[in-house]
Amino acid sequence: MSKGNIGVTSDNIFPVIKKFLYSDHEIFLRELISNAVDATSKLKTLSSVGEVKGDLGDTRVRVIIDKTKKTLTVSDHGIGMTAEEVDKYINQIAFSGAEEFLAQYKDKAEAIIGHFGLGFYSAFMVSKKVEIFSQSYKEDAKAVHWSCEGNPEYTMEDTIKADRGTDIVLHIDDEFSQYLEDATIAGLLNKYCKFLPVEIAFGKKKEWKDGKEVELDEENIINDINPAWTRKPADLTEEDYEKFYHELYPMQMDEPLFHIHLNVDYPFNLTGILYFPKIKSNLDVHRNKIQLYCNQVFVTDEVTHIVPEYLTLLHGVIDSPDIPLNVSRSYLQSDNNVKKISGYITKKVADKLAELYKADKDEFAKKWDDIKLFIQFGMLTDEKFYEKATGFALVKNLGGEYATLDEYMDKVRENQVDKDGNMVLLYTNAPDAHYTYIERAKAKGYDVLLMDGELDVHCMSQAEQKHEHLRFVRIDSDTIENLIRKEEAAKDEYSDEQKEGLRKAFEALLPEDEKLKYYVSCEPTSSDALPVFLTQNEFMRRMKEMSAHQQGMSFYGQMPDSYNLVINTAHPLIQELVGKETGEEVNEEVEKDGKKETVLKTVYKLQGEDERLKQLIDIALLASGQLKGEALAKFVNRSVELMSE
Ligand code: ADP
Repeated sequence: MSKGNIGVTSDNIFPVIKKFLYSDHEIFLRELISNAVDATSKLKTLSSVGEVKGDLGDTRVRVIIDKTKKTLTVSDHGIGMTAEEVDKYINQIAFSGAEEFLAQYKDKAEAIIGHFGLGFYSAFMVSKKVEIFSQSYKEDAKAVHWSCEGNPEYTMEDTIKADRGTDIVLHIDDEFSQYLEDATIAGLLNKYCKFLPVEIAFGKKKEWKDGKEVELDEENIINDINPAWTRKPADLTEEDYEKFYHELYPMQMDEPLFHIHLNVDYPFNLTGILYFPKIKSNLDVHRNKIQLYCNQVFVTDEVTHIVPEYLTLLHGVIDSPDIPLNVSRSYLQSDNNVKKISGYITKKVADKLAELYKADKDEFAKKWDDIKLFIQFGMLTDEKFYEKATGFALVKNLGGEYATLDEYMDKVRENQVDKDGNMVLLYTNAPDAHYTYIERAKAKGYDVLLMDGELDVHCMSQAEQKHEHLRFVRIDSDTIENLIRKEEAAKDEYSDEQKEGLRKAFEALLPEDEKLKYYVSCEPTSSDALPVFLTQNEFMRRMKEMSAHQQGMSFYGQMPDSYNLVINTAHPLIQELVGKETGEEVNEEVEKDGKKETVLKTVYKLQGEDERLKQLIDIALLASGQLKGEALAKFVNRSVELMSE
C-alpha cells in the first residue's frame, strides 16, 4: 500500500470544498455520472477503432444505494484507470493558485468546479470517505483501490476487481443522509441525467399488481440515450417531437404549437429543439424553461444571455459544448460565441415562422393569438428580429380577419387616408365598451382593428416610428370625422360667447373625481352623432398605458385620466338648448395695451335645464362604458322621471 498527499498547494482543500460549494452540493452526482459516461463512451470509441478487442459486454452505468453501509456507488464498465492514471488524474490535481482563486470566486461554486476539473472531488461535499476501485481496459493492468477520508492524505493499493471499469464508493456524511434515499437520488437522476448517452440503471423496474407495487427483475433505466434533438430531423415524425416534449415536461398537458429543430456545426456546435408552447396565462410563462445541456448532460435552465430574452419564453432544449458554462454571467454576455449562438437562434426562429406563414396563412393565423406575445416581445427588443417579423406578424380586425400590417394597409388605403396623406388605422381594445364609436366608424366604411394584447400599444408605437405616414388611433379618441379628417372641419353659426355659456353650463354639472379630468368643447360633429359624447386623447392615454410597463415614465402614470366631453352643436337637442339661454350684459375688466379697460359683455346662461344637461352627460358616460354604481342608479331614476313629465 502506498500513502501520499494530494497535490494541492492549499493546506487543505476539503474544508473549502465543503464550505464554498455547499449550496450546489447535489451536483456531485452529475459530476460522477458524467465521468462514468465519459469512460464508457471512450471505451466504445476505442472498440470501434479496434483498440479494444472483443465484445464489450455490459456497458450500463449503475447507481447503487447501500443503506446499511451508508454508501452510494457509481459503477461503470468504461476504460477504467491504472494506478498511474489514478495518481495522475486524481492525486496530482493541479490546484496551482487554488487558494487565491477560491477566495475570489467564493460564491461561484460552478466556476470553481469547472475551472479545476474538480468534478471528482465534488464527491467530498457529501462524503466523509471516498473510495475508487478501478480496473483499466489495458492488458496486464492491475486493479487499483484508492481511498481518502476528506483530508489531503490518501492511500492506494493493488486490489482484485472482477470486471473492467470503475466503482466510485461514497461513504455519505451523516448530515447528508438524504443522498441515501431512493427518492432523492431518483429526483437528481431525473434532473441531470435524463438524456445521457449511456444507459444509467437505478434499482429495479416496478409495476402495480393487485393494488401493490412490486419489483420486477428488470433494471430500471432512468434515461433516454437517443433524445430527439440528437437525431436527424428527417428521421423524426411529428409524434416523435410531441413525445419528446412530454418527456421534457411531464407535467405539461398541452401540445406545443410547433417546433424548431436546431442544428449547426460551424462556427460553433449546437443542437436542440425549441417548442412554441400554448400560453394560457402569465402564470404559465416561466414554469417550464428551456434546458441547457452540454453533450447531453443537463447544466441549467437559466439560459438568459444565451437565448435572446424574448425566446426564453419558449420551451425545449439546447445542447452545446461550445457555451462556456462555468463563467460569470457578465462574461457570457460579452462572449463572442454566445453572441453568435443567440443570433443564430433568432434567425432560425424567424425563418421558421416565415416559412410557416408562407406555407399556410390560415393555419398560421389560427395559432397567432397563442404566439403573438413572443413575436411582439421579440420585435420590440431585437431589431434584426423585427425586420424579419414584419413578414409574418399579424393584426386582426373585428371581423376576425388576420393580415400582416403591410397587407392590411393595402386593404384600407383607399378609404383611410386623411386629407394630409396620413394613413389612419382605427382600433379598439374593448369592442363592447366602444360599441357606439365602432358603429359610427363602420357606417363610414372604415375597418377597425382589435388591439387587446398586452404589448399591442407598444407595437403600434413602434410601427408608427417605422412608417412615416401611419397613425393608430383608438376608436374613442375623437369623433370619427376628426379621426380621419377628409375635409376642413365644418363651422357652426354660434358666437364664441354662446358656446362658452354652453361649455360652462355643462362643466358645472360634471362628476367630481380627483383621478378624472374632463375638458369640455363644442363641435358641430354631425346631427346623427350623440348630442354629447366623450373622447380620450390618443397620445395621453397611450403614454399612460405605456408608463405602466416602463420605468422613467412615471410622470405620465401619475397624471389623472383625462377625457374630452364634446358638445355636438350639430345635434338638434343641443341647438334647442342654445335657443334657451338667457343673455346678460355684464361689465368686464380687460387689459388692453397695458391699460385696464372696462367692456360690456354678454354672458349666456342656461337656467332650469340642469336635469336635461345631467341626463346628456350621463348618456355620454354611459356610451363609453363609464357610468357605474350610484351615478348609474341616479341616471336610471332620472330617466324614469323625465319620461313621466
Ligand atoms: P474532469 O472530468 O473534468 O476531467 P474529474 O476530476 O472529474 O475532472 O476527473 C479527472 C480525471 O479522472 C478524468 O479526466 C478521467 O481521466 C479520470 N476519471 C474520473 N472518473 C473516471 C472513471 N469513472 N473512469 C475512468 N476515468 C475516470
